[in-house]
Amino acid sequence: MEAGSRPEGLPLVAAHALTRVGRRADAGGLWRYAAAIPVEPSHAMRLSLGEGATPMISAGDPGLPDVRLKLEFLSPTGSFKDRGAVVLVASALSRGASALVADSSGNAGSAIAAYAARAGLPCQVFVPAATSPGKRAQIAAYGAELVLVPGDRTATADAARAAVRERDAFYASHVYDPYFLQGTKTFAFEVWEQVGGAPDAVVLPCGNGTLVLGAAIGFRELHAAGLIDRLPALIAVQSAACAPLSTAWSQGAASAAEITAEPTAAEGIAIPRPARGAEILAAVRASAGVMLTVSEDEIAEAGRDLARRGLLVEPTGAVAWAAVLAARVSSGADAPGWQRARDLLEGTVVVPLCGSGLKSPGSAAG
Ligand SMILES: *Cc1c(COP(=O)(O)O)cnc(C)c1O
Repeated sequence: MEAGSRPEGLPLVAAHALTRVGRRADAGGLWRYAAAIPVEPSHAMRLSLGEGATPMISAGDPGLPDVRLKLEFLSPTGSFKDRGAVVLVASALSRGASALVADSSGNAGSAIAAYAARAGLPCQVFVPAATSPGKRAQIAAYGAELVLVPGDRTATADAARAAVRERDAFYASHVYDPYFLQGTKTFAFEVWEQVGGAPDAVVLPCGNGTLVLGAAIGFRELHAAGLIDRLPALIAVQSAACAPLSTAWSQGAASAAEITAEPTAAEGIAIPRPARGAEILAAVRASAGVMLTVSEDEIAEAGRDLARRGLLVEPTGAVAWAAVLAARVSSGADAPGWQRARDLLEGTVVVPLCGSGLKSPGSAAG
């Protein structure tokens, strides 16, 4: 596989021809799908921390008969970012990387730092200064050099890119590097396997869209391989405080709207200018899905609701569940997106719980 060439500064697209989505009996976790992942498996698997193959459980809610929760927060570093990070770091090694630079709102930085440690690569991680203390401690514990950047997520990305240029390091960007999505796509393969086919919908939190786009790639590959006969609807959810894509969606626009971000407890999706915005909107549209927003109160209540069901997630990890709860009560009369979401909830729906509450328990507290 070759990374396609694009003008500098634009996200890359992986030109990867899927040969086979098949399960290997000799590998665990997401490496059971090694045939569909464009890195040399014997090298990549040495980096594995046991990522992938997360459990799926019923939501256990009589009002939502076939809504299932996929427990992505049980990943080695506490979020689904491990799927992308292991593939990205494996690919970076084969591309000759000797030092990594990453930027993150927290969980991607933790994941890259952990796999860099496993690979024996020095790693510098830039995060917004306001990132949760638990995530900062985790990144530093893996031995990465943590750099706190004042300002928003865009300032953090700018600082990381400057460091890449200065140090001649490898930019291990979960946003720009296409190999990250080649890891997150395994989420779709596992959903297909655990559901026993395509669900009607998946409900995904969306900031930079690494899970939305990974899921879109994975389901498209399953479809192209003749393993599913339709694409699940992607229901992508943003915080109303930072919703450049939901805003664009409701305006019928093809690229991210210019917005002024307000503070949100959902720090993992506080992305005012998503680099792959147009791709995300196109993927949601192609799946006959919708983009929705949820409020701070809805996110906080969803976190408490999950905790009362025995599931402790960080605020960002409760965003998708907040949309499910909101869709259930919405009248739908004035909001076609919510009506569509409510219709989809009658069918088989998978909701990932993306981030552990142990590093930033905000939404479950109080
Ligand atoms: C990264 C992350 C998200 C969102 O991922 P994007 O790629 O920014 O869309 C959602 N939830 C958690 C817990 C995350 O760590």
